[in-house]
Amino acid sequence: MKALEIRDLHKTYKGGTQALKGIDLDVQEGDFFALLGPNGAGKSTCIGVLASLVNKTQGQVRIFGDDLDTDLVRAKSHIGLVPQEFNFNQFETLLQIVVNQAGYYGVPRQVARQRAEKYLKQLDLWDKRNTPARTLSGGMKRRLMIARALMHEPRMLILDEPTAGVDIEIRRSMWSFLKQINQQGITIILTTHYLEEAEMLCRNIAIIDKGRIIENTSMKGLLAKL
Ligand code: ADP
Ligand code: ADP
Repeated sequence: MKALEIRDLHKTYKGGTQALKGIDLDVQEGDFFALLGPNGAGKSTCIGVLASLVNKTQGQVRIFGDDLDTDLVRAKSHIGLVPQEFNFNQFETLLQIVVNQAGYYGVPRQVARQRAEKYLKQLDLWDKRNTPARTLSGGMKRRLMIARALMHEPRMLILDEPTAGVDIEIRRSMWSFLKQINQQGITIILTTHYLEEAEMLCRNIAIIDKGRIIENTSMKGLLAKL
């Protein structure tokens, strides 16, 4: 099954910036996929379209077969998004943040509490569950956003520069967690401007530059070319 099918995707922002100029991309279910490119290449815009935070100008997007234009609610339910910026209420506790997120997806309270325990423990945040999010370090905040993204048990996790500004030790533990959940069957797409990160984690890769895909290959294939 295809996790993602993007055809001729364009995004022109008001003001005229052409952030995406006709993207075609396929990601298979179970893949660990990197979207690599320099700052300003269009990575966040692309992810914004997938998560329906950004309106596309043109093109077709299917997520596990569900079209963003005609099956929006189902398409969205397949995705857990880990954005680049910290977009949670800093005054809420970790438990409130993740349990409320599950609520938006209609997950029953009891189930949400069990999942909160499972994911906060896996991400080494359980001891902090009753503290306000603002007291967390940057690396902990990123892990909190991963836990939150998993609460509705999506089939795909999309992470925008997940380890930006995170120190090497935390980065390694995040990498191993992502590998682990990928092995459990969750498709993962991440953006990065670091080849090293893509190399450590990803099976397949697309390189985006100035709104266009300039390379789309296996990680091994890319490394063989360099
Ligand atoms: P959409 O078409 O998805 O609704 P908009 O074109 O309305 O998006 O842009 C959203 C807002 O972000 C606008 O108010 C725009 O001014 C602002 N913005 C402009 N340039 C940038 C930029 N480089 N990065 C982030 N936001 C920007
Ligand atoms: P990346 O994630 O690869 O750094 P982005 O998708 O953030 O790239 O940006 C692609 C281009 O679109 C850049 O030129 C950026 O300035 C512009 N851009 C991003 N967001 C907005 C916005 N909301 N409004 C206008 N321009 C934007």
